[in-house]
Amino acid sequence: MTDVSTLTLPPLRGQVANNVSLAPYSWFRVGGPADLFFAPEDEEDLSQFLKALPSDIPILVLGLGSNLLVRDGGFRGAAIKLGKGFQSISMDDKQLVTAGAGAADVKVARIAAEAGIAGLAFLRGIPGTIGGALRMNGGAYGGETKDVFVLARGLDRSGDLHTFDLSVMGFSYRHCDVPDDIIFTEAVFQGRQGNSAAILAEMNTITEARSSSQPVNTRTGGSTFRNPQGYKAWELVDQAGFRGFKKGGAEVSPLHTNFLIAHEGAKASDIESLGEEIRSRVFEQSGILLEWEIKRVGEP
Ligand SMILES: Cc1cc2nc3c(=O)[nH]c(=O)nc-3n(C[C@H](O)[C@H](O)[C@H](O)COP(=O)(O)OP(=O)(O)OC[C@H]3O[C@@H](n4cnc5c(N)ncnc54)[C@H](O)[C@@H]3O)c2cc1C
Repeated sequence: MTDVSTLTLPPLRGQVANNVSLAPYSWFRVGGPADLFFAPEDEEDLSQFLKALPSDIPILVLGLGSNLLVRDGGFRGAAIKLGKGFQSISMDDKQLVTAGAGAADVKVARIAAEAGIAGLAFLRGIPGTIGGALRMNGGAYGGETKDVFVLARGLDRSGDLHTFDLSVMGFSYRHCDVPDDIIFTEAVFQGRQGNSAAILAEMNTITEARSSSQPVNTRTGGSTFRNPQGYKAWELVDQAGFRGFKKGGAEVSPLHTNFLIAHEGAKASDIESLGEEIRSRVFEQSGILLEWEIKRVGEP
């Protein structure tokens, strides 16, 4: 791999830095540094960066890091954090909502609700960005990204722009088929006419339901494992005796057993090895091998 410290990049408007800790960029607040970090100002800035970046340097796109575990050894490549230029939200009189990939899902839900656009309230339950919602087909409380999706824009590894319609997104449960090196920059969603007060009330219900059932104010990564067909991951973890179980600085949430929590001093390795211990004990007891939903990246 090309040594990033010797790279010559074109003039870029966004922040570029070497050896930047990624811990502040994930909800777990753990993990080592990225060799290179770039926070592009906008799509054009990102495109210039990608065109200049040697193709052997891996990239990692960061949303709000609410489904991400960066390992302690950090990321050998370029981490890209979409900044303010990717946070615009607009809508038209046909209830089409256009949002930058760096916009927070919660904000998109709120702005749509205030404009009387229904159908996007479920985004209130997902504490990530639109880019993460596209990548993960984020869903909550009866709604999923794919249900309202119309179109996305994204840049490929060479910095060229593409548009993606529903037929190429290949959405399935917490997954989209678009290659991992595509960086989504914007999405268009179809809402429908609704009553602002009713949508805001629906969002409040979601907020209350979430805070009573999930450890939302802790350092966590959301659902750790995907629900296997016909099962609930939390139930399998609970039945295997892991509720409140601790390993190093990591703990299985006593409130919701599919959530792992990082305590003061936790390392990414504590969280990952707790997850692996759960997987093997659940497998021994039930014959079901849990699959990680959290994206784990970087070097041990
Ligand atoms: C308390 C809590 C509750 C949660 N509840 C839910 C829930 O109810 N439903 C649900 O679906 N999820 C839930 N999650 C998980 C998480 O919020 C979602 O998966 C969310 O969509 C991740 O978005 P993010 O922007 O934080 O992505 P990140 O965690 O930063 O990244 C996740 C993946 O998306 C990729 N990615 C991010 N941005 C882009 C982009 N612009 N282009 C391409 N790839 C990108 C990353 O590279 C990574 O592979 C919860 C998480 C927490 C912490």
